[in-house]
Amino acid sequence: MSEFDLINQFFKNTKVKRDDVLLGIGDDCAMLSPPSGKTLAVSTDTLISGVHFPESTSAEDIAYKSLAVNLSDLAAMGAEPAWVSLAISLPDSNVEWLAAFMRGFNELAERFNVALIGGDTTQGALSITLNVTGFVDAKLALKRANAKVGDIIFVTGTIGDASIGLDLILNNVNTPDVFTGDYKSYCIDRLNRPYPQVIAGQLLTEFVVAAIDISDGLKADLNHICKASNVGAIVNIENLPTSDALLAFYNNKPDWQNIITAGDDYELCFTCSKDKVTEMLSLMESNNIKTTCIGEVVSGSGVKCMFDNELLNFEQTGYNHF
Ligand code: ADP
Ligand code: MG
Repeated sequence: MSEFDLINQFFKNTKVKRDDVLLGIGDDCAMLSPPSGKTLAVSTDTLISGVHFPESTSAEDIAYKSLAVNLSDLAAMGAEPAWVSLAISLPDSNVEWLAAFMRGFNELAERFNVALIGGDTTQGALSITLNVTGFVDAKLALKRANAKVGDIIFVTGTIGDASIGLDLILNNVNTPDVFTGDYKSYCIDRLNRPYPQVIAGQLLTEFVVAAIDISDGLKADLNHICKASNVGAIVNIENLPTSDALLAFYNNKPDWQNIITAGDDYELCFTCSKDKVTEMLSLMESNNIKTTCIGEVVSGSGVKCMFDNELLNFEQTGYNHF
């Protein structure tokens, strides 16, 4: 199948149609019409086979995860997703593989009404680069530099589940009896199909918070907020939100160092000023978004981890490609 046949068959006629796409796939450029008064939030992420997902990952999950991690960046800015372009490098033109890939892609694109507006198709080692664009009110964006001393620190969802999924796939680890098959598939799903906290991000724009999505580990990612805001952070480890699956995996003795340095959960970590906490929490609760207080912004620098009021000395920080 030629490059152009592939484009026509798999990329051109996806379901999501938006009025702000004046010209989609098929010309030299897409033509897009942003809403007046809004700022564009733009982000790119590349996923490479064997680095960002195990080589055994299904085409459907690869696509799903590629879009999810890009939408997660928009979420961490508080932006409403709108458009995506897809640059894909493929070893060969495997039609079944591409059909499965687009099933995973379209499932998430349809859920968040994101239109595929263009891209590039080349031959080479499997790699996927997505560029997403969303809309945000510039004054309300969840910038990393927004944190202030005295703010409270929160995370959405639970953390550490995806790292267990990765361990199960790559290292074939022994697990305790209480860690059932359901828990196993839950953790693998958390790795392959992270849920981008797009709704949470948009709700948080009401509170002008600092936010980041947890891709490289809670400690490393929270440290990015600290650096950008010129502040420090204290995290109370015993407050970290964990799933039943995680507690079963660790036989109720969680390896906290592992959990705060593991990436791939794509939950949001954010700060909120004390006087807005009650209002923020009730808004999150009414939208069914689990939100947990994990610490406080302090003066100084870096992330300090406490357990039962004692300072822990963790060496490792987070995933670093180099
Ligand atoms: P050009 O040579 O002008 O760059 P291409 O032949 O690369 O154009 O692409 C033709 C059209 O198909 C363009 O509109 C481009 O955006 C779109 N396209 C190519 N590959 C993809 C893809 N993987 N996903 C979505 N759109 C694509
Ligand atoms: Mg091209």
